[in-house]
Amino acid sequence: MDRIYIKKLEFFAKHGVFPEENVLGQKFVISAVLHTDVREAGKTDDLTKSIHYGEVSQMMKDYLESHTFCLLERAVETLAKKMLLEIPGLMEVELELEKPWAPIGLHLETVSVAIRRKWHTVYIALGSNMGDRERYLQTAVESIGKKEGCQVEKVSSFVRTAPYGGVEQEDFLNGCMQIRTLLTPRELLEFLQEIEKQAGRERKIHWGPRTLDLDIIFYDREVIEEEDLQIPHVEMQKRDFVLIPLREIAPFLRHPITGKTVGEMAEELVQRYVM
Ligand code: AMP
Repeated sequence: MDRIYIKKLEFFAKHGVFPEENVLGQKFVISAVLHTDVREAGKTDDLTKSIHYGEVSQMMKDYLESHTFCLLERAVETLAKKMLLEIPGLMEVELELEKPWAPIGLHLETVSVAIRRKWHTVYIALGSNMGDRERYLQTAVESIGKKEGCQVEKVSSFVRTAPYGGVEQEDFLNGCMQIRTLLTPRELLEFLQEIEKQAGRERKIHWGPRTLDLDIIFYDREVIEEEDLQIPHVEMQKRDFVLIPLREIAPFLRHPITGKTVGEMAEELVQRYVM
């Protein structure tokens, strides 16, 4: 990805843990790296095809001067989020906020906090086999779309599938969606579990009936192997109810460990049933 640099923009603000800092204020310095695609601007010489660094500099200065935070960490976290939400074409941002006059009673050149935040592409599998199944799936799609820092990019059609896991129950309705998110994998998991809870989901029987099941299938190309969170979802390659709708929206997406595409995994599963 191409980058636009804003280096050492100075401003005066009141961030700090000491009450005097919040009253008197001091000098701060911010630097930013904006990750964006400048190819079109390069070809056309048209500023509207790029990010206006003058406007972004003003935005950063205005935001940091009009808010007061105890921590530099909080200042850059909230600013990065605002920038990613409000600046079209900004895929990733790096921010470094310096406090050269930090009142710690020692002589130093500067202290700073640097972070890197970005939009992530995530695939989520949805399933329901109780009550108004279509409405549960539709409501889940809408709730995810309304969440700040989540944008729905693609939704597959909803397919009817026979239940999995040997428990006697109704057919499922399944689908998959592609979103863009600023949430971390764990924040996203907690948010999806909240939506499941609102749908009246109770975890009674493993593989049993459920109003709503939301699973994270892929999160960029990340591999996470923690006790309560595995990404890519460990069962995905065995589940036609995940692979069939996922193939509709992302046939060429590649599993980061096995290297197989969603289309290939779906095909292998179909072959196994036929043989
Ligand atoms: P389930 O009954 O299929 O909804 O399983 C839910 C449990 O799976 C939760 O306790 C999660 O912590 C865990 N889990 C592990 N990996 C994932 C994932 N990729 N997406 C959703 N839940 C996951």
